[in-house]
Amino acid sequence: MSDKIILTGDRPTGKLHIGHYVGSLRQRVVLQETGEFRKIFIMIADAQALTDNFADPGKVRQSITEVALDYLAVGLDPQKSTIFIQSQIPELTELTMYYMNLVSLARVERNPTVKSEIQQKNFGEGVPVGFVCYPISQASDITAFKATTVPVGEDQKPMLEQAREIVRKFNEIYEPVLVEPDILLADNEACLRLPGTDGKAKMSKSLGNCIYLSDSADTVREKVRSMYTDPTHIKVSDPGHVEGNTVFTYLDAFCRPEHFDRYLKEYQNLNELKAHYKKGGLGDVKIKRFLNEILQEELGPIRQRREEYAKDIPALYEMLKKGCETAEAVAAQTLSDVKRAMQIDYFA
Ligand code: ATP
Ligand code: MG
Repeated sequence: MSDKIILTGDRPTGKLHIGHYVGSLRQRVVLQETGEFRKIFIMIADAQALTDNFADPGKVRQSITEVALDYLAVGLDPQKSTIFIQSQIPELTELTMYYMNLVSLARVERNPTVKSEIQQKNFGEGVPVGFVCYPISQASDITAFKATTVPVGEDQKPMLEQAREIVRKFNEIYEPVLVEPDILLADNEACLRLPGTDGKAKMSKSLGNCIYLSDSADTVREKVRSMYTDPTHIKVSDPGHVEGNTVFTYLDAFCRPEHFDRYLKEYQNLNELKAHYKKGGLGDVKIKRFLNEILQEELGPIRQRREEYAKDIPALYEMLKKGCETAEAVAAQTLSDVKRAMQIDYFA
């Protein structure tokens, strides 16, 4: 068995959406099924969610249930992947405290993802210190499990870079106890950062431009119907643009050759469909209808499984509790290694 270990996760700030699905969840399930990983840890990052949602603890608490249901619905299997809740592992907070010494203020302020999130969020009374430091806490999450592989969306690149810097610095100053992680991005360009249905840069729970994994069939159809396409493509006969056209980006992320056999026989593949749209003579209604069929096919079984799991919430929390216990044992071992390396193991 390989030495490869996965750590990844999501913030409980709402239900999970198709951006999470193509950017990370779908791949996690594939990786889980390869059996190539010695351990897989999937973290619900509630402590991180509280860095910008500290005034809304109810939302974070409720979203734990939603995210855990979404996990099981897409096929994450607690027998193969340890699913746990960040705040229940105090070792992670302790590691963060020590790692903070290894990062300069200028370095945290330079993080481009954090910068753009600060702009989006309109922090009224100023940016919480905890928020600018969340990449450091994320480094603790990753290193606590000695993760080698972190499958995430593109917005997480700066976080991985930060984690690697902390590992190198720690190992150099103290002892080489930490493992440098690699990011694992989706191999499909469209999946790296799926745009919102409004055409905005990123589908994001906080922006309200999402198609959720739990949306009803009617809601999905309606969201697809009113999706952003190409504002210059007014009449069907007008030539259209496929770049920056959300419907085509989603098709890039979801469409497979067999979908043409099933739902749009006049075309062989996506390139043909795109060529027709660019030339003119292909209307938005038709491409949206095609996208809707594909999404319904993909999301239907997920929605059904989710409804089944939602019938037994106590079992869901029992699963999470077990996951927390397993995760804490691993994090405690790392923390003990860290404290020894830092010479703060006085009573050992
Ligand atoms: P929030 O607005 O609260 O930050 P979010 O929608 O950005 O929520 P996160 O929980 O921050 O979701 O991200 C979870 C994972 O999903 C990360 O790996 C992130 O890179 C990935 N991800 C989030 N949004 C997208 C997206 N639109 N396309 C691809 N991957 C995404
Ligand atoms: Mg995010």
